[in-house]
Amino acid sequence: MDRCYECDSPLEVIKDRPYQYKESGLDYVWLIGILQYKCSKCKETFVEIPRIKELHLLIGRTIVCRKESLRGQEVKYLRKEIGMKSKEMAAALSMEPETYSRWENGKQAIAACHDKALRMIYVVNASENAGKVLSQGFPSVLPDLASRKPPLKTKKVQFSPSEWLNKLDEPLFGGEFCPA
Ligand SMILES: [Zn+2]
Repeated sequence: MDRCYECDSPLEVIKDRPYQYKESGLDYVWLIGILQYKCSKCKETFVEIPRIKELHLLIGRTIVCRKESLRGQEVKYLRKEIGMKSKEMAAALSMEPETYSRWENGKQAIAACHDKALRMIYVVNASENAGKVLSQGFPSVLPDLASRKPPLKTKKVQFSPSEWLNKLDEPLFGGEFCPA
C-alpha cells in the first residue's frame, strides 16, 4: 500500500503505534505491531491487518475463556462471528428475543447457564467453520467460566500478529483451551 485510496497521494507509514480495533465492536481490543498509514494530503488513515480470520478466532477464544460473565458487546461479538441473527440466537438459547436483546444491549444481566450456553454455541460453530476441532479441553474449564461479575470497564487487551500468524496448523483452541 503506497497511495491513498481517497486522493491517490503518497502515504506515510506509521509503525509501532497501538491501534484500537473498534471494528471488532469491542472497546478494549488494541492491536500492536501492525502497519498503519496516513495520507500526506487528506490525512485519511489506513490500517493493514493480516489474516483477520485468525485474529477474530483469537479474540473469540479470549472472550469465551473469561471467568467474568459476558458483557453485551462480547455477546454480540460471539453471535456475529458465527453469523447468527439475534432471533436465531435467542431461539437457540430458549430465551425470549426481547430478553436476549436487552442482554446484548447491556441492559440486563443473564444467568450463568445462558452465558455458558452461548459460549458453547460459539465454540461449536467456530470449530465447524474452521474445519477443525477447537473445543478440546473446553468442558474442563466450564465450571470456572461466567463465575464472576463483569467489571464496569474491561481493561485493555493487546494482541500482536505473532499471536495469530503462522499458527494455522496449531489449533487456536487446543489441549490447553484457556491459557492460565
Ligand atoms: Zn488522501
